[in-house]
Amino acid sequence: MSGLADRAAKLDADDPLAALRDRFDLDPEVVYLDGNSLGAPPRHVAARMADVIGRQWGRRLIRSWPEGWWDAPERVGDRIAPLVGAAPGQVVVADSTSVNIFKTLVAALRMPPLRPGDNGRDELVVDAATFPTDGYIAASAAELTGAELRPALPDELDGVLGERTAVVLLNHVDYRTGRLYDMAQATRKAHDAGARVVWDLCHSAGVLPIELDALGVDLAVGCTYKFLNGGPGAPAFVYVPHRLQEKFHQPLAGWGGHREPFAMAPEYEPAPNISRARAGTPDILSLLALEAALEVWDGVDLAEVRAKGMALTGFFAECVDELLGDRVEIVSPRDPERRGHQVSVRHPAADRLVTALAEREVIGDFRTPDVLRFGFAPLYNTYGEARRAAETLAGVLAAAG
Ligand SMILES: *Cc1c(COP(=O)(O)O)cnc(C)c1O
Repeated sequence: MSGLADRAAKLDADDPLAALRDRFDLDPEVVYLDGNSLGAPPRHVAARMADVIGRQWGRRLIRSWPEGWWDAPERVGDRIAPLVGAAPGQVVVADSTSVNIFKTLVAALRMPPLRPGDNGRDELVVDAATFPTDGYIAASAAELTGAELRPALPDELDGVLGERTAVVLLNHVDYRTGRLYDMAQATRKAHDAGARVVWDLCHSAGVLPIELDALGVDLAVGCTYKFLNGGPGAPAFVYVPHRLQEKFHQPLAGWGGHREPFAMAPEYEPAPNISRARAGTPDILSLLALEAALEVWDGVDLAEVRAKGMALTGFFAECVDELLGDRVEIVSPRDPERRGHQVSVRHPAADRLVTALAEREVIGDFRTPDVLRFGFAPLYNTYGEARRAAETLAGVLAAAG
């Protein structure tokens, strides 16, 4: 056991990102391995929110709208853009991921075909292992547009994609197993088949390099309260590349996406740019907390973040192997290149184990029916925490007999 402790200490001492942990307000007693579900707060966010509430809202009141509130969705979108490989003016922050999946799917299904004249495509292919909300929303988008749903795994698209495929909705990382899919390959396959692709980046945005522009991705959405640390319920982002903005006709044509919202015109006319992906009034408190939180990424190299994420999850898997053996089954890919920033472990009593771990100040989470998830946020998690989590799990299992 001391071997792992020594290794962890050495890995932490050599970690080029170690200093970033201090930018977060973390309870030193707690091993927090759920940043893939709710990111930890950066320290400076609380003071920023005191200003937003006390001065911007309290003193400036309604005058704050033109002083940086109304255009916050686009401004914060431009802060996220470099994290997902997008040039400015193509990302906007608004609404929830669920709502944005609805907007993007319906817009994609309404777009003219990728190849001119190639009409009659009526299938919406949906990730067969998708996070449930994506599947529910896809069904609702299909119902509205008359499309037919077709399930497929992101690495099993051959034989599914064809002349009927209109749109493909994929999760970059499987939320249950942590499997990371090859975005370049799946995007190419969709395009080769003449279909458009919508990526859900909820579990990858902020922890690994993503190249939306370079890969020619059609549309993408993602959460900001997970690895981007925006705070509970922070609004999600939508990516619409410049080349598709004019063709982006989303179904929630609210005044927020209007060309001139304050002209109060009776007819809807979409904004000529990314703003057309907005719908109503932005949730300023959450949006500005997210804006502040995003400052922790300043000067951070995503390749380095990815390298640490692979090393951290790999080290945790090694600790689990050594301390738990075959008493649990690791269901996340062993190949670090095919693994997101989480390690999922299967055990029949997973639910009870997660509760017992939390009582010992190790926070992971449970996903039905039998999966314990441990998320590793490279900006603040340490190798020492990975070891302590595995050791605590071993102790809990031993106590359970
Ligand atoms: C977390 C997550 C969501 C959450 O959607 P909300 O609308 O924010 O509740 C959706 N899809 C995936 C893949 C997720 O991981």
